Amino acid sequence: MNIKNVAVAGSGVLGGQIAFQTAFHGFTVKLYDINDEVLAKAKKRFETELSENYKTDLKASEEEIKSTLERISYTANLAEAVAEADLIIEAIPENVEIKKDFYHKLAAVAPEETIFATNSSTLLPSQFAEDTGRPEKFCALHFANEIWIYNTAEIMGHPGTDKVVFDTLVEFAKQIGMVPLEVHKEQPGYILNSLLVPFLSAGWNLLVNEVADAKTIDKTWMIATGAPKGPFGFVDMVGLNTVYNIDKNKAEKTQDPFTIKKVQYIKEHFIDKNKLGMSTGEGFYTYPNPEYKQEDFLK
Ligand code: NAD
Repeated sequence: MNIKNVAVAGSGVLGGQIAFQTAFHGFTVKLYDINDEVLAKAKKRFETELSENYKTDLKASEEEIKSTLERISYTANLAEAVAEADLIIEAIPENVEIKKDFYHKLAAVAPEETIFATNSSTLLPSQFAEDTGRPEKFCALHFANEIWIYNTAEIMGHPGTDKVVFDTLVEFAKQIGMVPLEVHKEQPGYILNSLLVPFLSAGWNLLVNEVADAKTIDKTWMIATGAPKGPFGFVDMVGLNTVYNIDKNKAEKTQDPFTIKKVQYIKEHFIDKNKLGMSTGEGFYTYPNPEYKQEDFLK
């Protein structure tokens, strides 16, 4: 199967990046969201921030940016968004009910041959396969934040995904500058988060249980493995607010004493001080030049 026209649903952080990256690589993209105001904000972000990022990080020319922007159109009408789409990539909020409702509406208006892909980080494609009305043409295609730099595309079907659809998405990922990473079984967290989440948890255990301080933990990992950052360098990148929200929910649900202690720790040291990591310029480290990138950090 050959993909030419792509629709992206959701113009937020990831949807916006997926739309821009896809258009940058020559595809025609229709971006869909719930109303025109949200779409206008996305358009503005494309013309400013994202254009700048591609120019700085990828040395994109003015001409390339101009034609990227011209290839993207915007609509709050779902039927119009998918009328000519070979593929629609869904990047709407990580909420089961919102996604289920979306797939029902999409199934009613999308052409029969359109492939549906979800960018969900934590939900499995089998949770929505029936809602799509075309389970064999439904698959996960998962990108990382700052897609133009961290160019992984994890491709993960559910048991009913057609192999041809899976292979089409592998090919498509390559065409938009991604490294396709094939996941052969449904796995919460795909490959990356299956590795990263336990790794970060192990770091938090050492810190919150006062076994060692954050910099010593990072240093140990970096010296011993040659990795460019340790767990708390990663936490700054993910954002302390994200970690806090996930663990706060978990603490409320499970009442697990360690999680409660961890949530209090994050609140006191980071949330209350608005030190949310890279996004606010300070978390465990200060940015743009964090201490762990300086030469004598590893001494
Ligand atoms: P976001 O909140 O930034 O954007 C969500 C967008 O969806 C908003 O523009 C919102 O208006 C729109 N929306 C809400 N309901 C909608 C509907 N019914 N139809 C169409 N659009 C609707 O969220 P995000 O961070 O871009 O995440 C989107 C998806 O991508 C989630 O499934 C998330 O798990 C996944 N993801 C996020 C990241 C990340 O780092 N943010 C990384 C990988 C994957």
